[in-house]
Amino acid sequence: MRQIAIVGSGPAGYYTAEAAQKQWGDGVQVDIYDFLPVPYGLIRTGVAPDHQSIKAVSRRYEATSLSDNVCFIGNVLVGDDVSVEELRGFYDAVIFATGAPNDRELGLPGEDLANVFGSAAFVGWYNGHPHFASLDPDLSGETAVVIGAGNVALDVARIIAKTRGEFSGSDIVNHALDALDASGIERVVFVVRRGPHEIAMTPKELGELGHLHLASPVVDPADLPPEADDAALDPGQRKSVNLLRAFASLSDADRAGKHRRVEFDFFASPVAFLGQGKVEAVEVERTQLEDGRAVGTGETYTIPADIVIGCIGYRTSPVPGVPFDDRGGILANVEGRISDGLYCVGWARRGPSGTIGTNRPDGFAIVEKVAQDIGEGAGKAGFAGFEALAAERGVDFVEFHHWQNIDKAEIALARDDAPREKFVTMEAMMAAARG
Ligand code: NAP
Repeated sequence: MRQIAIVGSGPAGYYTAEAAQKQWGDGVQVDIYDFLPVPYGLIRTGVAPDHQSIKAVSRRYEATSLSDNVCFIGNVLVGDDVSVEELRGFYDAVIFATGAPNDRELGLPGEDLANVFGSAAFVGWYNGHPHFASLDPDLSGETAVVIGAGNVALDVARIIAKTRGEFSGSDIVNHALDALDASGIERVVFVVRRGPHEIAMTPKELGELGHLHLASPVVDPADLPPEADDAALDPGQRKSVNLLRAFASLSDADRAGKHRRVEFDFFASPVAFLGQGKVEAVEVERTQLEDGRAVGTGETYTIPADIVIGCIGYRTSPVPGVPFDDRGGILANVEGRISDGLYCVGWARRGPSGTIGTNRPDGFAIVEKVAQDIGEGAGKAGFAGFEALAAERGVDFVEFHHWQNIDKAEIALARDDAPREKFVTMEAMMAAARG
């Protein structure tokens, strides 16, 4: 029997578990560890609360968890409650699927001013991640600046621009819903260092900006390249650029009743955050494209900003005992292999790119490598080894049936129009876990 530990219960973790089952059938036992008492990682705390159809993939992960040879072991911080070395002693392979939960920093002056956040923190706040639930962003001002032109920037801008009613059916947590409902933000500005052709926003998600109740997207036609140039784009990107063109041609009549604006400031690179204690403005430099890169022109200007959210990508968390690639913000690895018995997969391996589905082939690829390396397995103790150590050390771990208790309790607490109301502290989760 092969014993495999997966650290991290998000998409990369579950697709790897699924791949292990396909590879070895009942010749493997897979234990999925998570520091939270709840599974599904990014699906729960990253995917936007108003994108419930994407979250539905968790049903597939649930089916994996309910099979005989996959266990969820929550409330265990690997590297603290149990060391990597200890885990390595219990399992033939330890696979890190820990994602990229930390913000990349811009490294600009004023980044530590109040009300300047990274997207991990801001998204974690509206999604009820225990680390960020108490973020308490000040939304009383008029202008929000969102840095970046990826799908996370889109999520953040859309969530800020929506009305209370538009969250019907979502699982946005109550504290965020109430704060957003009381928000004074009328203007959201994307600060985008390159141009319309270079955005990383996918068409389905970008299109949603055109259908908000009180907000409409604003694109300056002068920023758009000649239409003939669009022919060189791949079809998906062309669709996104077509949407920008449609936004640029919206008339006042089209915007009737929509007093909130979601503006695109293209060819604008942030230089500094300005303010006394709290952010008041963003200084940006006009850019031009040279060989696809944004190059500063020396021309600067300021955009008033009452809140700033940088959406420029993520880094994985270092794990004690595991080499870290600081430049890439990933675990140091060669095609997923870290060192003897240690592997990584998903965003921890390759950085924050692709869709949730991209992690499926990634999971199958890493299991193939593990299969080459571990053969039949070395008769390791697996969960029994961890369980004995946890008892000795007083590690209060939970299993999948405990998550099912939390799940039921969250569903019972839901607003009338919501699928669940998440617990946002470890204490509340653990209390519900124990029923
Ligand atoms: P992303 O797609 O890599 O976008 C990051 C953005 O930040 C880019 O526009 C980038 O501009 C900009 N940026 C990076 N460094 C910058 C700097 N120093 N100054 C100014 N701008 C900077 O990352 P993401 O939005 O965090 O998304 C991560 C992944 O999750 C992506 O694969 C995304 O598609 C996926 N995702 C998908 C969904 C969905 O499908 N609904 C939702 C959320 C996230 P440059 O291009 O110029 O570098």
